[in-house]
Amino acid sequence: MKYFGAHVSASGGVQNAPRNAHDIGAGAFALFTKNQRQWFAPPLSAKDIEAFRAECERLGYAPHQILPHDSYLINLGHPDTEGLEKSRASFIEEMQRCELLGLDRLNFHPGSHLGRIGLEESLARVAESINIALDKTKGVTAVIENTAGQGTNLGHRFEEIAYIIDRVEDKSRVGFCIDTCHAFAAGYDLSSAEACEKTFSEIDRIVPLDRYLKGMHLNDAMRPLGSRIDRHERLGKGEIGWECFGYIARDPRFDNMPLVLETIDESLWKEEIAELYRLNS
Ligand SMILES: [Zn+2]
Ligand SMILES: [Zn+2]
Repeated sequence: MKYFGAHVSASGGVQNAPRNAHDIGAGAFALFTKNQRQWFAPPLSAKDIEAFRAECERLGYAPHQILPHDSYLINLGHPDTEGLEKSRASFIEEMQRCELLGLDRLNFHPGSHLGRIGLEESLARVAESINIALDKTKGVTAVIENTAGQGTNLGHRFEEIAYIIDRVEDKSRVGFCIDTCHAFAAGYDLSSAEACEKTFSEIDRIVPLDRYLKGMHLNDAMRPLGSRIDRHERLGKGEIGWECFGYIARDPRFDNMPLVLETIDESLWKEEIAELYRLNS
């Protein structure tokens, strides 16, 4: 099964996200389980948890169709003790929120070395952060997203993601998410079916897709291949183009996981999702 959707609003409470997804014909969705610009949030109430679970049940969304995203403030590879501790505490809280909501994965950006420690040291900190969080939670997989490679951000090469996964003790609860815009910005060509064939084989050799791929972000890219600039574009309107999204729609390696849009024009999501399902049929 293919599950296409978008990163929908949870404004007014997490229990509103499933209906927002359903309204645009989505078979998957992403959401923030709290305000993504704040470090910590008041705990979810029993009522909100119950309402979220009931809405997912009513509208037919199982955990493997949902990809929650953590706060942008968190940096699990932070060079400073204070920043690292705060990030770890906030990440654990996010993992616990997912657990309470009955969700089985949490998507996050690996972080940044900020130019103050080496790349490998920072990546090792991310792995240790994951180990700590997995120790304190049950049933939720930490899903590392590849990045565009802006500034000192970690994770634009899939070797970096493999480096983190290697150091995670419980391999059954770590995985990754491929953002097509980020991969393209990082220099992985996706602009034709042949390019996709080559790029996804390369990624598969570095981080086996069947074992670790837990979701995707489907975004076209505003900037050219290798720009290292993270600017999402509407599907088919950027440098990647529809051929790539058709390739993904048809390829069974991307079945049974949330494939979510983070494209820039929300009013087009319904159309984009319908087109993805059409390409899949
Ligand atoms: Zn993304
Ligand atoms: Zn992005």
